[in-house]
Amino acid sequence: MEKQPLGVYNYGMDFSRPDNARAINRLKVLSELRTGECSRAELSRRLGINKVSIGDMIQDMIAEGLVTEGKKDTSQAGRPGTLISINKSAGRVFAFDIRTRSISISVSDTVGNVLRFERFPKNDETAANIKKAIERMRSGENVKIFGSAVITTDTDFDTSYFPRPLITIPRAIAEASAEIYKTKNMEGFLFLSWSESFDAALQREELMHIPTLAHIKAQKDGACYCGGKGCLEVAASGRTLMERTGAPSIRDLVRNPSYAASIKEALRPIAMALSEAVQATAASDVMITGDLSALPDSAYAYLQNLVTALLPPDRGVTVYRSLSGENGTREGAAIAALDLFFYRTQLLKKLEMIQRIENAL
Ligand SMILES: [Zn+2]
Repeated sequence: MEKQPLGVYNYGMDFSRPDNARAINRLKVLSELRTGECSRAELSRRLGINKVSIGDMIQDMIAEGLVTEGKKDTSQAGRPGTLISINKSAGRVFAFDIRTRSISISVSDTVGNVLRFERFPKNDETAANIKKAIERMRSGENVKIFGSAVITTDTDFDTSYFPRPLITIPRAIAEASAEIYKTKNMEGFLFLSWSESFDAALQREELMHIPTLAHIKAQKDGACYCGGKGCLEVAASGRTLMERTGAPSIRDLVRNPSYAASIKEALRPIAMALSEAVQATAASDVMITGDLSALPDSAYAYLQNLVTALLPPDRGVTVYRSLSGENGTREGAAIAALDLFFYRTQLLKKLEMIQRIENAL
């Protein structure tokens, strides 16, 4: 199993310098406000930072347009408290989803709402169309662009004109990020992304990418591009199903009932692969994400029965349908980009870890 970090960054910070301590406290404030609006006093209490420092920081952050202040609460005696929130319009992140035949582009605000979304077929005009779309989505004004997240298996595609900084994110990591952002605690979940291809991720304190899950042996025959035989990818990927059924798109596969029998057939190798992967990773539950996750309840009931039958009797594993469905990729890519370029979630987690170790010494 391969553990792949989201991005390798040299933050180059000297943590002993007070301005960096301040920079870190600002990040802590942003992360706290991401969970919902909050008063200065409450921020001070939750973060263990004194009220004066919080007040100074908030004042600067309001001036910089990072946070906004709500109405004063005059109902209380003494100094009136106001609620501070993230300024949704403080900036934007782009997400690009490059597929075999099309590319989609979306732009999201600082709390991860997808503001605009466009899709283009891959042809001679693709680059020109995307450049124009980027300009439209920058929205002309002096809106800050924090960066871009790219999901692709097409490494030949020219991304040189995408807004920088740029991070490439595995599809399953993006989709799982969207689900975890909505559902919060999903520790132990195995995410299977089912679109053109398969991809997978496991939540174990942080998201681990499991690209090998697509190549678990799930049926007897069928040569795979990886050199293996009977891989899940060959047995049941969206691409395989389109070839097998002649369906014009994945959307058709999911929505047109005439493909229901082929989908049902594909659930057997998926159950095989999932039962193996659940045992190997000790996953607590499973969630199907991606375009093909938007299947009817009956398909999920069938898959659940197969998985339960294949697992040992004491392993109660539930198979869930993603909440975001086909929107999950762009939602999650935006969240991952915000984590990395705006909230610096990974950096904060590492610093907290260092602090825990230091406190223990
Ligand atoms: Zn393979």
